[in-house]
Amino acid sequence: MDRIKRTVSVLMAVLLIGSCFGMIAFAEDGEHVHAYTSTPVLATCTEQGYTVFVCSCGDMYKDLYTDPLGHNYGGWDAVQQCTCVTEGVMERTCKRCGAKQTQTVPVMDHRDSNADGKCDTCDLVMEPEEVFSPFEWFISLFRTIFERIRNFFASFGK
Ligand SMILES: [Zn+2]
Ligand SMILES: [Zn+2]
Ligand SMILES: [Zn+2]
Repeated sequence: MDRIKRTVSVLMAVLLIGSCFGMIAFAEDGEHVHAYTSTPVLATCTEQGYTVFVCSCGDMYKDLYTDPLGHNYGGWDAVQQCTCVTEGVMERTCKRCGAKQTQTVPVMDHRDSNADGKCDTCDLVMEPEEVFSPFEWFISLFRTIFERIRNFFASFGK
């Protein structure tokens, strides 16, 4: 009787172990249910943001894309002062990523706002500006006509 009992228990053990292997084999045969852990990757000024989903089995994918944020520039700073001879350069910097953007400022005209005959910026000697005065123009016209008439009558006197 003992032999039979032992044989049965061995058979039972073999069956048990066999069914365990069978379950594992079955599980490996596509019954694995992915369980993903998500890790968000934030968008930057120029790159999209997204979320990475990773399963313990090694499977992974990306989803939930978000648009790039675009640069967040501060104000323009003059890097090279604009003058009447050379172009000026202005620069602004993104507060988030430090990207720089430059812009040229066109050459200005020479200017003499204090009327000392020199350009305020580069000291170039400038011709005084012709100021049109209607009153002086009228006087000179009148003087020219008067001279003409006087010469006309003077020619008669000869
Ligand atoms: Zn998986
Ligand atoms: Zn930026
Ligand atoms: Zn100048």
